Amino acid sequence: MRRWNGWGDDTILYPLPRNASSYIADKIGKASPLPEATLDEVLLSVPPSRLPEHPLVIQSPEERARHCRGQSIPDWLAFKSGNIDAFPDGIAYPSTTDEVQSLLSYAEKAGAGIIPYGGGTSVVGHITPEKGDRPVLTIDMSRMNRLVSLDEESRLATFLAGAAGPDLEAQLRAKGYTLGHFPQSFEFSTLGGWIATRSSGQQSLRYGRIEQLFAGGLLASPAGLLKAPAFPASAAGPDLREIILGSEGRLGIVTEATVRVTRLPEQERFHMVFFPHWQEALDSVREAVQEGIPLSMLRLGSALETETQLVLAGHERVISLLEKLLTWRGAGKNKCMLLFGVTGTRAFYRNTLRKALHIFRRGRGIHVGSYGGRKWAESRFLIPYLRNTLWDEGYAVDTLETATDWQNVNRMAEEIESALHGALDAEAGPILVLTHLSHLYPQGSSIYITVIFRTAQTYEQTLARWEALKTAASEAIVKNRGTISHQHGVGIDHAPYLAVEKGHLGIAAIKAMCHEFDPHGLMNPGKLVR
Ligand SMILES: Cc1cc2nc3c(=O)[nH]c(=O)nc-3n(C[C@H](O)[C@H](O)[C@H](O)COP(=O)(O)OP(=O)(O)OC[C@H]3O[C@@H](n4cnc5c(N)ncnc54)[C@H](O)[C@@H]3O)c2cc1C
Repeated sequence: MRRWNGWGDDTILYPLPRNASSYIADKIGKASPLPEATLDEVLLSVPPSRLPEHPLVIQSPEERARHCRGQSIPDWLAFKSGNIDAFPDGIAYPSTTDEVQSLLSYAEKAGAGIIPYGGGTSVVGHITPEKGDRPVLTIDMSRMNRLVSLDEESRLATFLAGAAGPDLEAQLRAKGYTLGHFPQSFEFSTLGGWIATRSSGQQSLRYGRIEQLFAGGLLASPAGLLKAPAFPASAAGPDLREIILGSEGRLGIVTEATVRVTRLPEQERFHMVFFPHWQEALDSVREAVQEGIPLSMLRLGSALETETQLVLAGHERVISLLEKLLTWRGAGKNKCMLLFGVTGTRAFYRNTLRKALHIFRRGRGIHVGSYGGRKWAESRFLIPYLRNTLWDEGYAVDTLETATDWQNVNRMAEEIESALHGALDAEAGPILVLTHLSHLYPQGSSIYITVIFRTAQTYEQTLARWEALKTAASEAIVKNRGTISHQHGVGIDHAPYLAVEKGHLGIAAIKAMCHEFDPHGLMNPGKLVR
């Protein structure tokens, strides 16, 4: 069963390797876990529902508690402390677009706010109910998970939009296809959620972000049904798909989506290269994307991220041997690890690997083969389970991300890192800031940062620590001309910074669009734009 107050399936544990606990304690100090509320205690605090009865709406306290927050740090602190200030009043599980439309009419009559719910994996407060007098209906899309049609000639697959990653891929794989969209939240996040948040998968370099994969679909809104037709390309004015992408549940509910699919690859491997220094690594990966080397993934870690990854990998003896070998070959303390994917037919695979290694070796990269990459691929969706393990040791893990042009990447990363290091007082102690680049473009790159900090003595103080970190990082991002989000979206947490990149006219245009689709302001109020 899904954990109600943490990440993932509650039968899956991801223990820290023996040396990793002491490594983290050496870096940022020992920590002690906060006491946690039980589910039974939380259920006692769920108030009576304010929604009228409806055959598709479940009002049980447990359903409402399980849907009340997502996966951000404020969400975790609310779940773990049991201090939850708003619950949805009911949860509906529609199976068809007609049922979604009838739920929208029901909510409108009841004057209820509506939260579309995919997998609940948002990390920026997308699915938090508004506090206040009006009831809230959360519409969970998980029953709408079916492949509706597959057009093999055009390589288009139409799904009901509640399909979660594993369901969607299994239905395609059975017919020899893949969508290739693998966000790290793949296990639970859904097609509709990916579209509504403009998500990016780990192999977006080959398959594209969801914007490139989403060919068209259906949006059920309070004002009616919007159909965005799936054309290969079109010059017929503004593209309706772009209105739906990133709409964060503010315009309506994506009930059906047509996506561009690819034949399953003949061969796929992930390789590892270690560079002696960051700058050589950065120049090499930039050259690889700008020269159009058709890799399926590039993930370059900073020196500290690399060191930490190697500790978290466990296998102390093997890693120690590897490090000795790398030091002997010139990649010592400052080494940076690059993981890259090659995917395609056998001939394409050989050719692409050869071209990529040529560039990386010129940058003094040391290729260590694909064993480490295989291990990474095996555990790629298990890594988020470390959040649970670290929480139990008294540490909170947050992630933040942006994207900027190549000429600004180093400065941006340094400014965010230094803002984070300066954000907390001495009592909170040092923090661990781990940076990597994982979505690379000819123009620039995303910058993804994981922050590990000690929880405080109380939940309020821990939230204050997170707020200080988040504010410092967000201010550094917008000050240095980065986007406030490359892949997580806006939700509540990024909304205060959106106007910097959209401008007043842009924000007014987005609000006008919300009003057109949702004249009474029922759809996911408080998210994206206020
Ligand atoms: C451990 C972890 C790893 C992650 N890794 C990545 C990553 O690699 N790449 C990435 O891009 N993101 C990542 N995320 C963020 C998150 O998974 C994405 O934002 C994802 O797209 C959310 O999908 P979901 O189905 O869970 O949506 P939810 O969290 O349920 O909802 C997110 C937003 O989408 C709206 N929404 C959901 N379904 C619909 C629908 N059918 N119609 C209209 N609106 C809808 C909701 O109202 C809400 O505003 C990660 C999150 C976690 C916790």
